[in-house]
Amino acid sequence: MPLDLSVIGAGIAPSATLAMDTKAKEFIAAGFDVIKFGVGEPDFDTPEFIRTAAKEAIDAGKTRYTPVAGTTELRWEIAQKFARDNNLDYDASGEIIVSSGAKQVLYEALCVLLNPGDEVILPSPCWVSYPEMVRMAGGVPVFAPADPDKGFVFTAEDLRPYVTEKTKALMINSPSNPNGCILSREILQGIADLAVEKQFYVISDEIYEKLIYDGEEHVSIASLGPKIKDQTIVVNGVSKTYAMTGWRIGYGAGPRRIIKAMTAYQSHASSNANSIAQAAAAAALAAGDVACVRDMIAEFDARRVLMHHLINAIPGISAHLPKGAFYTMANIGALIGKKHRGEVITGSERFAELLLESKYVAVVPGKSFGEDSHVRLSYATSSGKIKRGMDRMAEFVSELE
Ligand code: PMP
Ligand code: GLU
Repeated sequence: MPLDLSVIGAGIAPSATLAMDTKAKEFIAAGFDVIKFGVGEPDFDTPEFIRTAAKEAIDAGKTRYTPVAGTTELRWEIAQKFARDNNLDYDASGEIIVSSGAKQVLYEALCVLLNPGDEVILPSPCWVSYPEMVRMAGGVPVFAPADPDKGFVFTAEDLRPYVTEKTKALMINSPSNPNGCILSREILQGIADLAVEKQFYVISDEIYEKLIYDGEEHVSIASLGPKIKDQTIVVNGVSKTYAMTGWRIGYGAGPRRIIKAMTAYQSHASSNANSIAQAAAAAALAAGDVACVRDMIAEFDARRVLMHHLINAIPGISAHLPKGAFYTMANIGALIGKKHRGEVITGSERFAELLLESKYVAVVPGKSFGEDSHVRLSYATSSGKIKRGMDRMAEFVSELE
């Protein structure tokens, strides 16, 4: 037998967002003053009451295996959160699973739903991990490109041509990484009707639910009726809302048969999520939309407006005002083909490389999200850094010929 890797193992592309973060950190370690608009992670510390809950959990001996699907306490808080925020009724015992980040929930959902060759529709641009997760689970990603001129918002009618007999699921992410768009109740109703008509699952990634601006409303597609609820897996977590990226707690809710299969899968893959982090997440969710969370959202909002203003002030670059999350997609299409110090900008990857190497500003190439004429910038960094970073980006663009 040849000692080679499996087809799946050999074909996985590493996460471009995490790769850019690693590269930026290498530059920082080498002594360069890098402005990081790359990885999407709140720059705030985890709120003190959550840190205290974790310390208390250690001292109370909550350091052993927990039930695979998560502690009773945390699943109860998650069920309360769904009822309170999303008008969704899930049974804490059997319809909810806690995993090591929303990432693991998404991956496990795909693993228990897909047979080899099953298609998953991904409205694009989409988060870098979706297509790779689909492939890792044996499925085939089918990209449904959204129109940049409409701010990347799409409707059921835009998706319909991509539905085939092999369509097993659709992944949606509102508010969206990478473009910050939000799907309205009407649009979600159309998508729900299509999913019920054509019989496919919806994996609804709502991790940025709370990062929403301009009075927009977050709607969970599962709340639009019993039929779509029975075809939906809702995915969420504490990473973004509570500045808890390193704690690795995400959760999913859905029909009992699916959560049961995901729990069985997880029982072999990783057992339970970290017991101490689960106690901390329970404290976070019990507190809900506390003042410190509202303060973080207000700060993201101010940074969003600032970054939007500064991007659009750079000749040759434009961006839509994002409505949610903490990302914006900047259109650099007009700069492709130009040269920086003799180096041709062949696409978004080259743009990002040259910008990092010459001005020490990290952005993520849009190519990784399926949109090579754009780069993604995260505004989860201070206003001062946003101003300095955008000054450097403007200088970079002014040097193009
Ligand atoms: N979904 C999206 C769209 C994301 O941007 C992220 C960011 N990490 C995740 C899921 C995963 O979040 P986590 O695993 O930290 O809960
Ligand atoms: N989701 C964030 C991002 O897109 C964090 C990195 C990752 O998990 O991909 O930048």
